[in-house]
Amino acid sequence: TPTEELRRVDAAHHMHPFTNNSELEDKGARIITRAEGCWLSDSEGNRILDAMAGLWCVNIGYGREELSQAAARQMSDLPYYNTFFQTSHVPAIALSAKLAELAPGDLNHVFFAGSGSEANDTNLRMVRTYWQAKGQPERNVIIGRWNGYHGSTVGAMSLGGMKGMHAQGGIVDGIEHIDQPNWWLEGGDMSPEEFGLERARQLEEKILELGPDKVAAFIAEPVQGAGGVIVAPDSYWPEIQRIVDKYGILLIADEVICGFGRTGNWFATETLGLRPHIMTIAKGLSSGYQPIGGSIVCDEVAEVIGGVEFNHGYTYSGHPVACAVALENLRLLEEEKVIERVRDETAPYLKQKFEALVDHPLVGEAKIVGMMGSIALTPNKETRAVFAAEAGTVGFICRERCFSNNLIMRHVYDRMIISPPLVISKEEIDILIERARQSLDETHAILRE
Ligand code: PLP
Repeated sequence: TPTEELRRVDAAHHMHPFTNNSELEDKGARIITRAEGCWLSDSEGNRILDAMAGLWCVNIGYGREELSQAAARQMSDLPYYNTFFQTSHVPAIALSAKLAELAPGDLNHVFFAGSGSEANDTNLRMVRTYWQAKGQPERNVIIGRWNGYHGSTVGAMSLGGMKGMHAQGGIVDGIEHIDQPNWWLEGGDMSPEEFGLERARQLEEKILELGPDKVAAFIAEPVQGAGGVIVAPDSYWPEIQRIVDKYGILLIADEVICGFGRTGNWFATETLGLRPHIMTIAKGLSSGYQPIGGSIVCDEVAEVIGGVEFNHGYTYSGHPVACAVALENLRLLEEEKVIERVRDETAPYLKQKFEALVDHPLVGEAKIVGMMGSIALTPNKETRAVFAAEAGTVGFICRERCFSNNLIMRHVYDRMIISPPLVISKEEIDILIERARQSLDETHAILRE
């Protein structure tokens, strides 16, 4: 069949990211051909509910003509020009002004990149350049978090704390990590609030251990996404903000997943009451229709960086077609009140249904903020036990059951996660929950065999 042929060619020539490619030779990839709203179609005629919005990015939903038309118009007018040195163009100007308007506080300046990874590499270089320009070059250590994900370039991978990635080598010097606030897995006998404080205070301990005059910045995802949608206890972020303020280090909020409505506000820093100096953005900025990312920078940092030549930039920084599509995407999100609807209607509805999954025998905790959530699979809810099999085995089974029920959920070890398009309707939420329950039941049955 055509699908078998596509699978054969795919396995023969296409190297998939984050994949053991030899596995594709047996089973082959699922080949996605079209998409509309929250629904994917594959080459075998299935309709699949995409509860991950692709890779957490298709916030506006698939198939919006306005976005393809914005791209086509820009392709005709000016398909490419750069913003190096002293040139500029209308899409980059308009998008930076729009982002300055949407971003909280005095985050008023945008450095564009082609992706979230590139934007975090920009941040890595920018904070070090900032402290150099301020005459404190010894302030060059950046603290990130274990299990954090900031991208796959060498810099972004080093800022992140994915041990499997670090094990493959190439870590950049001068980056340290503290533990994540994953109460379910690591909270022991502490209450979530005690544990949140304890984990936040690791930042202070790390700063004191390194010497406060050596630390440039702390980077974190407001809600750790690829690490399993780890929602911090309420005590965590206020304590982090206190510590960052006390030692005068820069706070970088990686909003690549959380930004553009995912948590029910434009940015998760608003949801959590944070005051970052720099925010990383990508994904939902263009709803994934074009590759684009960036760093939104506060007045003071931009002023200091502006005083030196920051020797950094990408051919596709501020790509006109990507900027035009992002602008149109922001216009749609705003005009159609997508984020307000998430906050006031669909997220509360999803929360109620999603958190009710804890009544399932396999589910230990269910956590959700806005439109990103996770459930922990466990053989024993009381003791918060992990499965005897290698971590991720049960999550993988569950993900495969979802897949065969035409529901895309992702697993991170034995946590199942969702991050649907923000335009998901209540009826579609019902389908999502029904298919998730069905898949959990099937997983449960497999485990008892
Ligand atoms: N930061 C976060 C929080 C992410 O989740 C991701 C991607 O998943 C990235 C950065 C990297 O973005 P990209 O894949 O566009 O390079």
